[in-house]
Amino acid sequence: MTLEKSTDASGGIFHHPLRPFSQTTVLIVDDEEFNRTLLRLTLEGHFRVVEASGGKTALDICLTNPPDLVLMDVMMEDMSGYDACQKLKQHPDTHHIPVIFVTAISSPEEENKCWQSGGMDILAKPINAPTLIHKAKALLTLKLQGDALREMAYLDGLTSVYNRRYFDDYLSRQLSQSRRNQTPLSLMLIDVDWFKKFNDHYGHLAGDDCLRTIAQTLKGSLMRPLDIVARYGGEEFACVLPDTDPKGATHLAGNILAEIRNLSLPHGLSSFGHITISIGVAITDSTTLQVDELLAIADQKLYQAKEGGRNCFRMAA
Ligand code: GH3
Ligand code: MG
Ligand code: MG
Repeated sequence: MTLEKSTDASGGIFHHPLRPFSQTTVLIVDDEEFNRTLLRLTLEGHFRVVEASGGKTALDICLTNPPDLVLMDVMMEDMSGYDACQKLKQHPDTHHIPVIFVTAISSPEEENKCWQSGGMDILAKPINAPTLIHKAKALLTLKLQGDALREMAYLDGLTSVYNRRYFDDYLSRQLSQSRRNQTPLSLMLIDVDWFKKFNDHYGHLAGDDCLRTIAQTLKGSLMRPLDIVARYGGEEFACVLPDTDPKGATHLAGNILAEIRNLSLPHGLSSFGHITISIGVAITDSTTLQVDELLAIADQKLYQAKEGGRNCFRMAA
């Protein structure tokens, strides 16, 4: 039997095509090299393939380089497939990755464990290649549609950085994390200087272009994987910087100011002659600051930066 090699996942969202299957990643988890090779040879040519020889390695890979689908063996030495799947489903960063169990077990009890641990499908060993490919494509399509919807729900339509909804959720999660780990967290509120005048002078469309450029420049200035930039409101942005102390925040704020300045976007009605921003920084010093308090401090510092002449930052000591 031949398999058609369709490259596109069917069912885009609102005319957004989904990522082609050839750019999706399937993780094979099995402690027997022979089994992994068999699966890999079947999947290669349709998807990207990575392998893990045990449950623990699989969880690590899912956190650091998340695949789009996991094929999970049940009986493994270090950790059962059920446990690995359950852990995957419990973690907020990995619970959306679908899992197919690949198993020789056929008792109803064992089968039920696959469902109970969060598996989305079961494939009987020895596998039938076309069934594997078709099941993988069906689950990948659902996964990609979910990704597309999540992206739309979390990204700002104008600037493509995170939106306010995501920011609120992320800040609150990271603040809890920093409290648990007793690590500092820095929050930056960033406001474009004299932006009303810019719009009045250059027009609203040029204003939109400017906001897009600023957003992408801010995004490019953040170096760590957990740092994020979001559009906080009209011409205001916010950066959440986990595990960043006053020294780190000072360094980054200076860099960001310089990067925006160096864009040299003309602004004839600003005394600087080009687009600049002001930044207010708040840092969790103790374990007690709540989200609202942190935001209020950053906002107060932003106000001081504006009062202090703009094109500068102020930080809560
Ligand atoms: P300041 O230096 O004190 O921040 O002055 P400002 O003019 O930047 O501040 P103000 O809050 O008075 O004006 C903000 C302006 O940002 C007004 C509004 O037209 C503009 N703005 C907000 N959202 C958008 C947007 O999505 N697109 C465009 N083009 N302009 C926007
Ligand atoms: Mg403003
Ligand atoms: Mg402004």
